[in-house]
Amino acid sequence: MNDADLLRVLGVDPAQLDPAPPRAQRRAASAERLDGSHPCVHCGQPARATGVVDVPGYGRRWLDRCMPCLLATTPRGGPRAPLADTLAVLRAAARDTGVALTIVADGP
Ligand SMILES: [Zn+2]
Repeated sequence: MNDADLLRVLGVDPAQLDPAPPRAQRRAASAERLDGSHPCVHCGQPARATGVVDVPGYGRRWLDRCMPCLLATTPRGGPRAPLADTLAVLRAAARDTGVALTIVADGP
């Protein structure tokens, strides 16, 4: 998800975001920014994470999010395969390589 897509998912107009400093100054400025005074750009709860987006026409802007909004908008390694498909691949690989395989799965 690129920055423009992220802002679209969050429903945020980049013009509403505070300008962010150059990359070299970001780390120190990020720590200062997480003092609880900045709201999450999506829901308004106190932000617990901050980052910088760079959107053409707006430049570098702060993107402050609470943890639930951060987690909801952070990619987690792509689409999840159904368990049956994953097990079939593992069984086939074990069969092809002659490895004895015991699979223990826990989940819904
Ligand atoms: Zn939020």
